[in-house]
Amino acid sequence: MQNKIEALIDKHMSTLSATKVSLSSISSEELWQRSGRLEGRDSEFLRLQDRKGAKYLLSPTHEEEITEIVASSVKSYKDLPLRLYQVTRKYRDEARPRQGLLRGREFLMKDLYTFDVTEEEARATYDQVRKAYSAFLDELNLPYLVANADSGSMGGNLSHEYHLASANGEDNIISCKKCDYSTNEELYSGTLGSHELSQPDSSLKGRDINSILTSTPFLSKDKTALFNIITPKDSGPLNTHLLKKLHPTIDTTLEAPFKTWSALNTKNPTRPRTETQVLDGRLAHLPLSNPTGPTVTHHKTALTSPSESSTCPSCLFPASLKVSTAIEIGHTFHLGTRYSVPLNAQVLSSSNKLAPISMGCHGIGVSRLLAAAAGLLMDAKGLNWPMKIAPFGAVVVAAPKTAEQDVLKVYDALALGSPGGALASASSSASSTTAPLDVAIDDRDRPLGWKLNDADLIGYPFIVVLGKAWKARGAVEVQCRRLGVKEEVTLEDLVEKLKGWEKQL
Ligand SMILES: [Zn+2]
Repeated sequence: MQNKIEALIDKHMSTLSATKVSLSSISSEELWQRSGRLEGRDSEFLRLQDRKGAKYLLSPTHEEEITEIVASSVKSYKDLPLRLYQVTRKYRDEARPRQGLLRGREFLMKDLYTFDVTEEEARATYDQVRKAYSAFLDELNLPYLVANADSGSMGGNLSHEYHLASANGEDNIISCKKCDYSTNEELYSGTLGSHELSQPDSSLKGRDINSILTSTPFLSKDKTALFNIITPKDSGPLNTHLLKKLHPTIDTTLEAPFKTWSALNTKNPTRPRTETQVLDGRLAHLPLSNPTGPTVTHHKTALTSPSESSTCPSCLFPASLKVSTAIEIGHTFHLGTRYSVPLNAQVLSSSNKLAPISMGCHGIGVSRLLAAAAGLLMDAKGLNWPMKIAPFGAVVVAAPKTAEQDVLKVYDALALGSPGGALASASSSASSTTAPLDVAIDDRDRPLGWKLNDADLIGYPFIVVLGKAWKARGAVEVQCRRLGVKEEVTLEDLVEKLKGWEKQL
């Protein structure tokens, strides 16, 4: 399945004329010092030393490495544009690995790096990459969102995030129902100035305080400070990006902060600690006092993400915003000269002047994508894989005592495809609808019902059953849980039928 995603990525990277490379996972700290990224992110690196004490880290990303390589091998504008990508394992010292493949210490990522002579050409490259990303995501047939994003520690000033819409996603994407405004929370909070609250919400005045408040506890990363975030009840999800910006010591990943806090205090009642109440601007007029520490009021700032009643900051249409939870699976950055200047990657221009290369970097989280797709399509019976990345497009399951040549006959019909068969499609594009299916045969010596349940669990898009109808009429039963299909099909019609359904998977 990983191979399927990688092949699909290769296909879309080839539309960009990108060349596949494979860089080492081990990078020297010295290189990261030169780019200025070693400081401040210490806790996120998995670091190591060799026997001589030289310091290395397991790369979470490869801007430094690839820029160094390009700097040493590219000399003239004639060598550009250059587009290099890889699909490799990356590492980070995740404080709390969780949700399986979604947030682990090791993850598989596609990273593409682009090198152009001028800023203008780099921006044109950026647009091409965005188109390739959309084409890639279109093939998965999953609902996705593209949001304007903050380029953060990567540098540059043009960035987009790609998300799969998912009820259990960790990110909130804010989009407008009236215009094409779409952004992540981080960028939304950064532009809050334009839609700050002009005055406290007067509808909250004179009501019982506890009935209108929600208090959410957080601990500082060193666990010596407790923050109670007080917001109006039902005002939308807490904007954790904004919170981290206002109170950088807050740890938003701890699962039961108050429990942890109480346990630490019971164990050591005299340990130094502080408690802070952090008040949403809409509650500024409330007489709240905090006996155990300071109260910080963020006048004019809402600490929750916008709700559906918020005004769009772009088209100013009232009550037009929509907040969707999602899982980030890709990110594009225009980097400009953020890395080429400190790492000395420059070329001679056509007018014989040395100029820094203009760069971009573009990731797809392969293991995240797998996990997100699994979470998105699973149901009570098991997984459901999108056709393009399913381990096999179909599985052939036969009742006990079915003749082996019957099973192979059905397998051949599916695997060779029609019209044209395997040979014809091998030379055509991989997306061609006449491409044969990847088919598995479940030949384990188990009852039919057991094998069907197992096939449901694994999530093959199609299950092709040789059961009663096969014995009676030589017909198979095709099952597709996602489409609610359970239909008897003759062998002659089988491939055409599957090709028809396949488009919806
Ligand atoms: Zn709008």
